[in-house]
Amino acid sequence: MNKQSYQLVIVGGGPAGLAAAQEAYDQGVRDILIIERDFELGGILQQCIHNGFGLHFFGEELTGPEYAQRFMEMVAEREVEIKLNTMVLEVSSDKKVYAVNSKEGMLEIKAEAIVLAMGCRERTREAIGIPGSRPAGVFSAGTAQRYINMEGYMPGRKVVILGSGDIGLIMARRMHLEGAEVEAVLELLPFSGGLTRNIVQCLDDFDIPLRLSQTVTKIHGKERVEGVTVSKVDKNLKPIPESEYHIECDTLLLSVGLIPENELSMEAGIELSSVTGGPIVNECRETSIEGIFACGNVLHVHDLVDYVTEESKLAGKAAALYLQGGIKKAKKEVSIVAGDNIGYIVPHKVTEKIEGRKRVELYMRGKRPMKNARIVVMDGDEELFSKKERYVKPAEMISIPLPEKMIEQLASNRVEVKIEEGGAE
Ligand SMILES: Cc1cc2nc3c(=O)[nH]c(=O)nc-3n(C[C@H](O)[C@H](O)[C@H](O)COP(=O)(O)OP(=O)(O)OC[C@H]3O[C@@H](n4cnc5c(N)ncnc54)[C@H](O)[C@@H]3O)c2cc1C
Repeated sequence: MNKQSYQLVIVGGGPAGLAAAQEAYDQGVRDILIIERDFELGGILQQCIHNGFGLHFFGEELTGPEYAQRFMEMVAEREVEIKLNTMVLEVSSDKKVYAVNSKEGMLEIKAEAIVLAMGCRERTREAIGIPGSRPAGVFSAGTAQRYINMEGYMPGRKVVILGSGDIGLIMARRMHLEGAEVEAVLELLPFSGGLTRNIVQCLDDFDIPLRLSQTVTKIHGKERVEGVTVSKVDKNLKPIPESEYHIECDTLLLSVGLIPENELSMEAGIELSSVTGGPIVNECRETSIEGIFACGNVLHVHDLVDYVTEESKLAGKAAALYLQGGIKKAKKEVSIVAGDNIGYIVPHKVTEKIEGRKRVELYMRGKRPMKNARIVVMDGDEELFSKKERYVKPAEMISIPLPEKMIEQLASNRVEVKIEEGGAE
Protein backbone atom coordinates (compact mmCIF):
# COMPACT_ATOMS: atom_id res chain seq x y z
CA MET A 1 0.00 0.00 0.00
CA ASN A 2 1.17 3.51 -0.91
CA LYS A 3 1.69 5.32 2.45
CA GLN A 4 1.61 9.11 2.74
CA SER A 5 1.10 11.68 5.48
CA TYR A 6 -0.32 15.22 5.71
CA GLN A 7 -1.08 17.55 8.58
CA LEU A 8 -4.64 18.21 7.41
CA VAL A 9 -6.68 15.98 5.08
CA ILE A 10 -9.99 17.27 3.74
CA VAL A 11 -12.43 14.70 2.33
CA GLY A 12 -14.56 16.31 -0.41
CA GLY A 13 -13.68 19.19 -2.75
CA GLY A 14 -17.08 20.93 -2.82
CA PRO A 15 -17.63 24.44 -1.46
CA ALA A 16 -17.31 23.13 2.13
CA GLY A 17 -13.95 21.41 1.59
CA LEU A 18 -12.57 24.35 -0.42
CA ALA A 19 -13.52 27.00 2.17
CA ALA A 20 -12.12 24.85 5.00
CA ALA A 21 -8.82 24.44 3.09
CA GLN A 22 -8.57 28.17 2.31
CA GLU A 23 -9.18 29.17 5.93
CA ALA A 24 -6.84 26.54 7.42
CA TYR A 25 -4.08 27.75 5.08
CA ASP A 26 -4.69 31.39 6.02
CA GLN A 27 -4.40 30.38 9.67
CA GLY A 28 -0.92 29.01 9.01
CA VAL A 29 -1.35 25.33 8.04
CA ARG A 30 0.87 24.54 5.04
CA ASP A 31 0.52 20.79 4.61
CA ILE A 32 -3.04 20.33 3.34
CA LEU A 33 -4.53 17.69 1.05
CA ILE A 34 -8.02 17.79 -0.49
CA ILE A 35 -9.34 14.44 -1.76
CA GLU A 36 -12.15 14.56 -4.34
CA ARG A 37 -13.75 11.58 -6.08
CA ASP A 38 -14.99 13.62 -9.07
CA PHE A 39 -12.85 14.78 -12.04
CA GLU A 40 -13.02 18.42 -10.88
CA LEU A 41 -13.45 20.48 -7.73
CA GLY A 42 -16.62 22.46 -6.91
CA GLY A 43 -18.96 19.67 -5.81
CA ILE A 44 -22.64 19.86 -6.65
CA LEU A 45 -22.36 23.58 -7.49
CA GLN A 46 -20.91 22.69 -10.90
CA GLN A 47 -24.34 21.49 -12.05
CA CYS A 48 -26.30 24.40 -10.48
CA ILE A 49 -25.99 26.83 -13.41
CA HIS A 50 -28.82 29.11 -12.22
CA ASN A 51 -28.08 32.34 -10.33
CA GLY A 52 -28.78 33.21 -6.69
CA PHE A 53 -25.54 32.06 -5.07
CA GLY A 54 -23.27 34.35 -3.08
CA LEU A 55 -25.67 37.15 -2.11
CA HIS A 56 -24.74 36.87 1.57
CA PHE A 57 -21.07 36.02 1.25
CA PHE A 58 -19.94 38.04 -1.78
CA GLY A 59 -22.82 40.55 -1.88
CA GLU A 60 -23.47 39.72 -5.53
CA GLU A 61 -25.50 37.19 -7.43
CA LEU A 62 -23.44 34.35 -8.93
CA THR A 63 -24.20 31.04 -10.60
CA GLY A 64 -23.11 27.83 -8.87
CA PRO A 65 -20.01 27.30 -11.07
CA GLU A 66 -19.01 30.98 -10.60
CA TYR A 67 -19.30 30.64 -6.83
CA ALA A 68 -17.26 27.43 -6.88
CA GLN A 69 -14.67 29.00 -9.21
CA ARG A 70 -13.90 31.76 -6.68
CA PHE A 71 -12.98 29.19 -4.06
CA MET A 72 -11.12 27.00 -6.56
CA GLU A 73 -8.94 30.03 -7.38
CA MET A 74 -8.39 30.85 -3.69
CA VAL A 75 -7.23 27.28 -3.09
CA ALA A 76 -5.02 27.26 -6.22
CA GLU A 77 -3.29 30.46 -5.04
CA ARG A 78 -2.50 28.78 -1.74
CA GLU A 79 -0.67 25.69 -3.04
CA VAL A 80 -3.04 23.26 -1.37
CA GLU A 81 -2.43 19.74 -2.69
CA ILE A 82 -5.36 18.13 -4.49
CA LYS A 83 -6.05 14.56 -5.51
CA LEU A 84 -8.92 14.36 -8.02
CA ASN A 85 -10.58 11.14 -9.23
CA THR A 86 -9.72 9.72 -5.82
CA MET A 87 -12.32 7.94 -3.76
CA VAL A 88 -12.01 7.83 0.02
CA LEU A 89 -13.05 4.34 1.13
CA GLU A 90 -12.50 4.55 4.85
CA VAL A 91 -11.56 6.96 7.62
CA SER A 92 -10.33 5.36 10.84
CA SER A 93 -10.72 6.70 14.37
CA ASP A 94 -6.91 7.11 14.60
CA LYS A 95 -7.09 9.50 11.61
CA LYS A 96 -5.90 7.28 8.79
CA VAL A 97 -7.63 7.90 5.47
CA TYR A 98 -7.80 5.00 2.99
CA ALA A 99 -8.39 6.03 -0.61
CA VAL A 100 -7.91 4.74 -4.13
CA ASN A 101 -7.16 6.21 -7.56
CA SER A 102 -5.99 4.82 -10.88
CA LYS A 103 -2.52 6.47 -10.77
CA GLU A 104 -1.37 5.70 -7.22
CA GLY A 105 -3.53 2.66 -6.41
CA MET A 106 -4.49 2.09 -2.77
CA LEU A 107 -3.43 4.91 -0.45
CA GLU A 108 -3.04 4.97 3.32
CA ILE A 109 -2.81 8.62 4.36
CA LYS A 110 -1.96 9.50 7.94
CA ALA A 111 -3.46 12.81 9.04
CA GLU A 112 -3.02 14.89 12.17
CA ALA A 113 -6.46 16.43 11.61
CA ILE A 114 -9.31 15.67 9.19
CA VAL A 115 -12.18 17.79 7.88
CA LEU A 116 -15.14 15.76 6.58
CA ALA A 117 -16.89 17.63 3.75
CA MET A 118 -18.58 14.88 1.70
CA GLY A 119 -21.86 16.72 1.09
CA CYS A 120 -25.17 14.88 0.79
CA ARG A 121 -27.11 12.70 -1.61
CA GLU A 122 -30.73 12.59 -2.74
CA ARG A 123 -33.41 10.24 -1.46
CA THR A 124 -34.63 7.84 -4.15
CA ARG A 125 -37.90 6.17 -5.15
CA GLU A 126 -36.86 3.18 -3.02
CA ALA A 127 -36.39 5.45 0.02
CA ILE A 128 -40.03 6.61 -0.14
CA GLY A 129 -41.46 3.36 -1.53
CA ILE A 130 -43.72 4.47 -4.42
CA PRO A 131 -45.52 1.36 -5.77
CA GLY A 132 -45.99 0.53 -9.45
CA SER A 133 -43.93 -0.84 -12.32
CA ARG A 134 -40.28 0.07 -12.91
CA PRO A 135 -40.16 1.89 -16.23
CA ALA A 136 -37.49 4.29 -17.48
CA GLY A 137 -38.18 7.98 -16.83
CA VAL A 138 -37.98 8.15 -13.02
CA PHE A 139 -35.07 10.37 -12.00
CA SER A 140 -33.90 12.16 -8.92
CA ALA A 141 -34.07 15.90 -9.62
CA GLY A 142 -30.30 16.27 -9.12
CA THR A 143 -29.57 13.54 -11.68
CA ALA A 144 -31.83 15.29 -14.20
CA GLN A 145 -30.01 18.57 -13.40
CA ARG A 146 -26.65 16.95 -14.15
CA TYR A 147 -27.95 15.43 -17.41
CA ILE A 148 -29.28 18.75 -18.69
CA ASN A 149 -26.67 21.17 -17.38
CA MET A 150 -23.49 19.14 -17.71
CA GLU A 151 -24.05 16.27 -20.11
CA GLY A 152 -26.49 17.73 -22.64
CA TYR A 153 -29.28 15.14 -22.32
CA MET A 154 -32.99 15.96 -22.01
CA PRO A 155 -34.57 13.59 -19.45
CA GLY A 156 -38.16 13.89 -20.80
CA ARG A 157 -40.89 16.06 -22.34
CA LYS A 158 -43.96 15.83 -20.08
CA VAL A 159 -42.93 16.03 -16.49
CA VAL A 160 -44.34 15.70 -12.97
CA ILE A 161 -42.14 16.75 -10.08
CA LEU A 162 -42.64 15.29 -6.61
CA GLY A 163 -41.26 17.50 -3.85
CA SER A 164 -41.23 21.30 -3.64
CA GLY A 165 -37.82 21.83 -2.01
CA ASP A 166 -35.44 24.18 -3.78
CA ILE A 167 -34.02 21.53 -6.11
CA GLY A 168 -37.53 20.49 -7.23
CA LEU A 169 -38.54 24.11 -7.83
CA ILE A 170 -35.38 24.94 -9.74
CA MET A 171 -35.77 21.84 -11.91
CA ALA A 172 -39.39 22.77 -12.69
CA ARG A 173 -38.14 26.02 -14.22
CA ARG A 174 -35.17 24.34 -15.91
CA MET A 175 -37.32 21.68 -17.59
CA HIS A 176 -39.79 24.36 -18.69
CA LEU A 177 -37.02 26.54 -20.17
CA GLU A 178 -35.69 23.51 -22.09
CA GLY A 179 -39.12 23.05 -23.70
CA ALA A 180 -40.70 20.37 -21.52
CA GLU A 181 -44.29 20.64 -20.25
CA VAL A 182 -44.21 20.65 -16.46
CA GLU A 183 -47.63 19.33 -15.46
CA ALA A 184 -47.34 20.02 -11.72
CA VAL A 185 -45.08 20.17 -8.70
CA LEU A 186 -46.62 18.00 -5.97
CA GLU A 187 -45.89 18.39 -2.27
CA LEU A 188 -46.81 15.95 0.49
CA LEU A 189 -46.80 18.63 3.21
CA PRO A 190 -49.31 21.49 3.46
CA PHE A 191 -46.44 23.96 2.74
CA SER A 192 -43.55 24.13 0.30
CA GLY A 193 -40.07 23.10 1.43
CA GLY A 194 -38.47 25.72 -0.83
CA LEU A 195 -37.42 29.34 -0.45
CA THR A 196 -40.15 31.90 -1.23
CA ARG A 197 -38.00 33.48 -3.95
CA ASN A 198 -37.80 30.10 -5.71
CA ILE A 199 -41.59 29.55 -5.56
CA VAL A 200 -42.09 32.95 -7.21
CA GLN A 201 -39.25 32.81 -9.73
CA CYS A 202 -39.48 29.12 -10.67
CA LEU A 203 -43.24 28.35 -10.52
CA ASP A 204 -45.39 31.50 -10.43
CA ASP A 205 -43.44 33.22 -13.23
CA PHE A 206 -44.09 30.25 -15.54
CA ASP A 207 -47.62 29.31 -14.40
CA ILE A 208 -46.47 25.94 -13.11
CA PRO A 209 -48.99 24.67 -10.53
CA LEU A 210 -47.89 23.78 -7.00
CA ARG A 211 -50.28 21.24 -5.45
CA LEU A 212 -49.87 20.93 -1.70
CA SER A 213 -50.89 17.92 0.46
CA GLN A 214 -50.66 15.57 -2.55
CA THR A 215 -48.36 12.71 -3.44
CA VAL A 216 -47.68 10.12 -6.15
CA THR A 217 -49.20 6.79 -5.14
CA LYS A 218 -48.47 4.77 -8.30
CA ILE A 219 -46.17 4.91 -11.31
CA HIS A 220 -47.59 3.54 -14.60
CA GLY A 221 -45.81 2.37 -17.76
CA LYS A 222 -43.84 -0.68 -18.95
CA GLU A 223 -40.81 0.48 -20.94
CA ARG A 224 -41.19 4.19 -20.14
CA VAL A 225 -43.30 6.16 -17.63
CA GLU A 226 -46.81 6.73 -19.09
CA GLY A 227 -48.39 8.47 -16.13
CA VAL A 228 -48.74 8.68 -12.38
CA THR A 229 -51.59 8.29 -9.91
CA VAL A 230 -51.79 11.21 -7.52
CA SER A 231 -53.65 11.26 -4.18
CA LYS A 232 -54.45 13.98 -1.72
CA VAL A 233 -53.22 13.21 1.80
CA ASP A 234 -54.93 13.71 5.15
CA LYS A 235 -53.42 15.54 8.13
CA ASN A 236 -51.45 12.41 9.05
CA LEU A 237 -49.97 12.45 5.52
CA LYS A 238 -51.88 9.24 4.59
CA PRO A 239 -53.27 9.09 1.00
CA ILE A 240 -57.07 9.53 0.76
CA PRO A 241 -58.15 6.75 -1.68
CA GLU A 242 -61.24 8.52 -3.10
CA SER A 243 -59.13 11.59 -4.01
CA GLU A 244 -57.00 9.73 -6.58
CA TYR A 245 -56.51 11.21 -10.05
CA HIS A 246 -54.25 10.48 -13.02
CA ILE A 247 -51.61 12.67 -14.69
CA GLU A 248 -50.24 11.60 -18.06
CA CYS A 249 -46.47 12.13 -18.26
CA ASP A 250 -43.29 10.49 -19.53
CA THR A 251 -41.05 11.60 -16.66
CA LEU A 252 -41.23 11.75 -12.87
CA LEU A 253 -38.59 13.80 -11.08
CA LEU A 254 -38.17 13.07 -7.39
CA SER A 255 -36.98 15.84 -5.13
CA VAL A 256 -37.84 14.23 -1.84
CA GLY A 257 -35.03 15.18 0.48
CA LEU A 258 -31.29 15.06 0.94
CA ILE A 259 -29.33 12.76 3.24
CA PRO A 260 -25.89 13.76 4.63
CA GLU A 261 -23.30 11.37 3.15
CA ASN A 262 -22.01 9.86 6.40
CA GLU A 263 -21.03 6.25 5.71
CA LEU A 264 -17.35 7.16 6.25
CA SER A 265 -18.16 8.97 9.52
CA MET A 266 -20.16 5.98 10.77
CA GLU A 267 -17.29 3.57 9.98
CA ALA A 268 -14.91 5.85 11.88
CA GLY A 269 -17.16 5.55 14.94
CA ILE A 270 -18.25 9.20 14.92
CA GLU A 271 -21.44 9.85 16.87
CA LEU A 272 -24.27 10.86 14.50
CA SER A 273 -27.47 12.80 15.18
CA SER A 274 -30.65 10.83 14.49
CA VAL A 275 -32.34 14.12 13.51
CA THR A 276 -29.89 15.68 11.02
CA GLY A 277 -28.15 12.47 9.93
CA GLY A 278 -24.86 14.35 10.39
CA PRO A 279 -22.25 14.18 13.18
CA ILE A 280 -22.86 15.61 16.66
CA VAL A 281 -20.46 18.57 16.85
CA ASN A 282 -19.30 21.29 19.20
CA GLU A 283 -19.04 24.96 18.22
CA CYS A 284 -15.74 24.29 16.37
CA ARG A 285 -17.57 21.67 14.27
CA GLU A 286 -15.39 19.05 15.93
CA THR A 287 -17.03 15.60 15.98
CA SER A 288 -16.97 13.08 18.83
CA ILE A 289 -13.44 12.10 17.65
CA GLU A 290 -10.85 14.73 18.61
CA GLY A 291 -9.22 16.31 15.56
CA ILE A 292 -11.97 15.20 13.13
CA PHE A 293 -14.19 18.09 12.03
CA ALA A 294 -17.29 18.18 9.78
CA CYS A 295 -18.87 21.00 7.78
CA GLY A 296 -21.29 21.71 4.94
CA ASN A 297 -24.06 19.37 3.87
CA VAL A 298 -22.40 16.35 5.45
CA LEU A 299 -23.18 18.01 8.81
CA HIS A 300 -26.72 19.28 8.09
CA VAL A 301 -28.47 20.18 4.85
CA HIS A 302 -28.10 23.94 4.32
CA ASP A 303 -30.52 26.19 2.43
CA LEU A 304 -27.82 28.50 1.03
CA VAL A 305 -24.26 27.71 0.05
CA ASP A 306 -23.18 31.01 1.65
CA TYR A 307 -23.87 29.47 5.07
CA VAL A 308 -21.90 26.38 4.02
CA THR A 309 -18.94 28.68 3.38
CA GLU A 310 -19.30 30.44 6.75
CA GLU A 311 -19.49 27.15 8.59
CA SER A 312 -16.60 25.58 6.66
CA LYS A 313 -14.31 28.52 7.32
CA LEU A 314 -15.09 28.02 11.00
CA ALA A 315 -14.19 24.31 10.74
CA GLY A 316 -10.99 25.14 8.79
CA LYS A 317 -9.94 27.70 11.38
CA ALA A 318 -10.70 25.30 14.24
CA ALA A 319 -8.68 22.53 12.54
CA ALA A 320 -5.74 24.95 12.26
CA LEU A 321 -6.07 25.96 15.94
CA TYR A 322 -6.23 22.28 16.89
CA LEU A 323 -3.03 21.56 14.93
CA GLN A 324 -1.32 24.55 16.56
CA GLY A 325 -2.45 23.54 20.06
CA GLY A 326 -4.67 26.63 20.38
CA ILE A 327 -7.92 24.95 21.44
CA LYS A 328 -8.52 24.71 25.16
CA LYS A 329 -11.43 23.04 26.97
CA ALA A 330 -13.89 25.42 28.62
CA LYS A 331 -14.57 25.08 32.35
CA LYS A 332 -17.95 23.47 31.66
CA GLU A 333 -19.66 21.84 28.70
CA VAL A 334 -22.92 23.53 27.63
CA SER A 335 -25.55 21.46 25.78
CA ILE A 336 -27.49 23.29 23.08
CA VAL A 337 -30.98 21.82 22.90
CA ALA A 338 -33.76 22.13 20.29
CA GLY A 339 -36.94 23.06 22.20
CA ASP A 340 -40.58 23.60 21.12
CA ASN A 341 -41.10 24.13 17.39
CA ILE A 342 -37.39 23.74 16.51
CA GLY A 343 -36.56 20.92 14.08
CA TYR A 344 -32.85 20.84 14.91
CA ILE A 345 -30.04 23.06 16.10
CA VAL A 346 -26.30 23.08 15.31
CA PRO A 347 -23.87 23.05 17.09
CA HIS A 348 -25.05 20.52 19.65
CA LYS A 349 -22.74 21.74 22.41
CA VAL A 350 -20.23 24.42 23.39
CA THR A 351 -17.11 22.90 24.88
CA GLU A 352 -14.10 25.08 24.01
CA LYS A 353 -12.51 28.27 25.30
CA ILE A 354 -11.19 30.21 22.34
CA GLU A 355 -9.15 33.38 22.82
CA GLY A 356 -10.78 36.49 21.36
CA ARG A 357 -14.07 34.81 20.39
CA LYS A 358 -17.01 37.22 20.44
CA ARG A 359 -19.94 34.85 20.00
CA VAL A 360 -21.09 31.36 19.00
CA GLU A 361 -23.61 31.40 16.18
CA LEU A 362 -26.49 28.91 16.61
CA TYR A 363 -28.13 27.63 13.39
CA MET A 364 -31.61 26.09 13.48
CA ARG A 365 -34.76 25.30 11.52
CA GLY A 366 -38.37 25.83 12.57
CA LYS A 367 -40.60 22.73 12.42
CA ARG A 368 -43.47 24.41 10.55
CA PRO A 369 -44.36 27.81 9.06
CA MET A 370 -45.24 30.38 11.75
CA LYS A 371 -46.12 34.08 11.85
CA ASN A 372 -45.04 36.74 14.35
CA ALA A 373 -42.82 34.30 16.16
CA ARG A 374 -40.58 34.87 19.15
CA ILE A 375 -37.39 32.86 19.29
CA VAL A 376 -36.56 32.36 22.92
CA VAL A 377 -33.15 31.36 24.29
CA MET A 378 -33.31 29.77 27.76
CA ASP A 379 -30.54 29.30 30.32
CA GLY A 380 -31.97 26.27 32.13
CA ASP A 381 -35.42 27.51 33.24
CA GLU A 382 -34.55 31.24 32.93
CA GLU A 383 -35.14 33.26 29.75
CA LEU A 384 -31.77 34.60 28.55
CA PHE A 385 -33.03 36.71 25.63
CA SER A 386 -35.46 36.54 22.71
CA LYS A 387 -35.66 37.69 19.10
CA LYS A 388 -38.73 38.49 16.99
CA GLU A 389 -39.19 36.95 13.52
CA ARG A 390 -42.15 37.98 11.34
CA TYR A 391 -42.10 34.62 9.58
CA VAL A 392 -40.48 31.28 10.33
CA LYS A 393 -40.26 28.78 7.48
CA PRO A 394 -38.69 25.33 7.76
CA ALA A 395 -36.99 25.95 4.38
CA GLU A 396 -35.07 28.93 5.73
CA MET A 397 -32.36 28.50 8.31
CA ILE A 398 -32.45 30.83 11.33
CA SER A 399 -29.26 31.95 13.03
CA ILE A 400 -28.92 33.48 16.49
CA PRO A 401 -25.69 34.67 18.08
CA LEU A 402 -24.93 33.54 21.61
CA PRO A 403 -22.56 36.25 22.89
CA GLU A 404 -19.37 35.06 24.62
CA LYS A 405 -20.18 37.13 27.72
CA MET A 406 -23.47 35.25 28.10
CA ILE A 407 -21.75 31.89 27.64
CA GLU A 408 -19.34 32.80 30.43
CA GLN A 409 -22.15 33.87 32.77
CA LEU A 410 -24.59 30.98 32.15
CA ALA A 411 -26.16 29.78 35.39
CA SER A 412 -26.86 26.29 33.99
CA ASN A 413 -25.07 24.01 31.53
CA ARG A 414 -28.07 23.78 29.21
CA VAL A 415 -29.17 26.34 26.63
CA GLU A 416 -32.54 25.55 25.07
CA VAL A 417 -33.93 27.44 22.08
CA LYS A 418 -37.67 27.37 21.35
CA ILE A 419 -40.11 29.24 19.14
CA GLU A 420 -43.35 30.72 20.48
CA GLU A 421 -45.91 31.20 17.72
CA GLY A 422 -47.70 34.54 17.87
CA GLY A 423 -45.39 35.50 20.76
CA ALA A 424 -44.18 38.61 18.92
CA GLU A 425 -47.63 40.17 18.36
C1 LIG B 1 -28.86 18.41 -6.56
C2 LIG B 1 -28.55 19.62 -5.71
C3 LIG B 1 -28.89 20.90 -6.14
C4 LIG B 1 -28.63 22.02 -5.34
N1 LIG B 1 -29.00 23.27 -5.76
C5 LIG B 1 -28.73 24.35 -4.97
C6 LIG B 1 -29.08 25.65 -5.36
O1 LIG B 1 -29.67 25.82 -6.41
N2 LIG B 1 -28.77 26.72 -4.54
C7 LIG B 1 -28.09 26.55 -3.35
O2 LIG B 1 -27.76 27.54 -2.62
N3 LIG B 1 -27.75 25.30 -2.97
C8 LIG B 1 -28.06 24.22 -3.74
N4 LIG B 1 -27.74 22.99 -3.33
C9 LIG B 1 -27.08 22.90 -2.07
C10 LIG B 1 -25.62 23.34 -2.25
O3 LIG B 1 -25.15 22.76 -3.40
C11 LIG B 1 -24.92 22.95 -1.08
O4 LIG B 1 -25.29 23.86 -0.05
C12 LIG B 1 -23.40 22.93 -1.24
O5 LIG B 1 -22.98 22.45 -2.49
C13 LIG B 1 -22.89 22.02 -0.17
O6 LIG B 1 -21.51 21.99 -0.26
P1 LIG B 1 -20.70 20.74 0.26
O7 LIG B 1 -19.27 21.02 -0.06
O8 LIG B 1 -21.09 20.46 1.65
O9 LIG B 1 -21.23 19.51 -0.60
P2 LIG B 1 -21.07 19.15 -2.14
O10 LIG B 1 -21.16 20.32 -3.02
O11 LIG B 1 -22.02 18.03 -2.37
O12 LIG B 1 -19.58 18.58 -2.20
C14 LIG B 1 -19.20 17.36 -1.60
C15 LIG B 1 -18.03 16.80 -2.38
O13 LIG B 1 -17.51 15.68 -1.69
C16 LIG B 1 -17.15 14.70 -2.65
N5 LIG B 1 -17.15 13.40 -1.98
C17 LIG B 1 -18.18 12.80 -1.34
N6 LIG B 1 -17.80 11.59 -0.87
C18 LIG B 1 -16.50 11.43 -1.22
C19 LIG B 1 -15.54 10.37 -1.03
N7 LIG B 1 -15.87 9.24 -0.36
N8 LIG B 1 -14.30 10.54 -1.52
C20 LIG B 1 -13.96 11.69 -2.19
N9 LIG B 1 -14.83 12.70 -2.41
C21 LIG B 1 -16.07 12.58 -1.92
C22 LIG B 1 -18.23 14.83 -3.72
O14 LIG B 1 -17.83 14.29 -4.96
C23 LIG B 1 -18.43 16.34 -3.77
O15 LIG B 1 -17.62 16.96 -4.73
C24 LIG B 1 -28.00 21.86 -4.10
C25 LIG B 1 -27.65 20.58 -3.65
C26 LIG B 1 -27.94 19.46 -4.43
C27 LIG B 1 -27.59 18.08 -3.89
